[in-house]
Amino acid sequence: HTTVTPKEDAPSRNLKRTEFLLDRNLHKSFPLVKSACGNYINLVDGRTVFDATSGAAVSCIGHGDKRVIKAMYSVLNTGIPYLATTFWACEVVEELCKELIAGTDGKMARVYLTGSGSEAMEAAIKLARQVFYEKDPATRRVNFIAREGSYHGNTIGALGMSGHPVRRAPYEPFLMDNVHHVTACNPYRQRTDGESDTSFVARKAAELEAKFQELGPETVVAFVAEPVVGAALGCVPSVPGYLKAMRDVCHKHGALFILDEVMSGMGRCGTLHAWQDEDVVPDLQTIGKGMGGGYQPVAAVLISSRVVNILLNGSGQFIHGQTYQGMPVQAAAALEVQRIVREEGLVDNVKRQGLYLEKCLRSRLAGHPNVGDIRGRGLFWGLEFVKNKITKEPFDARLGVAQRILEAAISAPFNMTMYPGTGCADGFRGDHVILAPAYNVTKEDIEHIARVASDV
Ligand code: PLP
Repeated sequence: HTTVTPKEDAPSRNLKRTEFLLDRNLHKSFPLVKSACGNYINLVDGRTVFDATSGAAVSCIGHGDKRVIKAMYSVLNTGIPYLATTFWACEVVEELCKELIAGTDGKMARVYLTGSGSEAMEAAIKLARQVFYEKDPATRRVNFIAREGSYHGNTIGALGMSGHPVRRAPYEPFLMDNVHHVTACNPYRQRTDGESDTSFVARKAAELEAKFQELGPETVVAFVAEPVVGAALGCVPSVPGYLKAMRDVCHKHGALFILDEVMSGMGRCGTLHAWQDEDVVPDLQTIGKGMGGGYQPVAAVLISSRVVNILLNGSGQFIHGQTYQGMPVQAAAALEVQRIVREEGLVDNVKRQGLYLEKCLRSRLAGHPNVGDIRGRGLFWGLEFVKNKITKEPFDARLGVAQRILEAAISAPFNMTMYPGTGCADGFRGDHVILAPAYNVTKEDIEHIARVASDV
């Protein structure tokens, strides 16, 4: 378990790669999937793998749910899988927007639909810029403040916002150059000895305030953060009081407070939106992943009435738009996923089973010499691995520890997915895995996940 040896070739049995598909791992082969059902993925070799990550924290109600397929089919059958939202309205799309707004207890006012989380971030960035332009076309508000150790997507604007040096490196200097970064809210790596939550939060708020002052408060459009950091750091929740303190700094200077909940939102963290945990309402919020549960590519920006009113009093339009957005078949899938989540009380199950997962992970792994941190919220848990638990020194990046753990977990006899990530220690080094099972998991599923996570 604890000795890391140089990387061996992945076992070739049951692995396949295509010669034609360009993806990020040109040298790797993957298990060949035949079908999926519920929380299990069936491979062509006859094995069944437990999906402890919902894909990439997406398949929140599991795979192959016939109710969602039926809802999609009934829309396909009307002959309108696609409609141009620039000229047509459609009932199922309206219903989805109504459902999403209701899920914010009416605290957000409008929905802008997109096809992915990155597109939602692009839309949020443009909308935030346009809001200040509407007020004053000569506005000096052009700067964004985001955080180190963040991931907001892979398109140029969203990546420009992200604070992930390895992902950014090939594209400098063409990323958005008006984004400035402050440190993440990562107590495992940043809290000083004996520092209380209150002092930690005060330090973060002071850092944001200093960044506003450095840039000129009247030049800042918005501060952007993930309330629970996903892919970049591995499920790091904000310290209590942090979101409110950061929002207060933004509002003091007339800037917007934007939350990226593409990964943390739609029930993943035990409340429908992570901000509801402390009732810190954002001005703009992006969602994705669990919104459509993987049945269709669908994401959105939720927009507060503060922002909508500026548009209504100005041009009355958002100067944006893409061909494939608000498609009826996307809406039908997302609406049915959200109906299932609501009617089956799955967010409560996330909270309940999440607490049990925390307990099981801590009891099995807290004493492990290479598990530095166990953190998360709801059914969104990260394990950070370190070479030395006292100094928190990460493993050499070349060892590929997180990837090796995934490969071991996915192989027999464990047959369970884990979501590997790197860079959580300093942007270049540091390994973590994410556990993010479907919202309908049982107590037995949780025990299985914790057992595999410790045995692997
Ligand atoms: N924002 C966050 C917080 C994410 O985790 C992701 C994807 O992992 C994105 C944005 C980008 O979403 P997508 O991959 O759907 O473009």
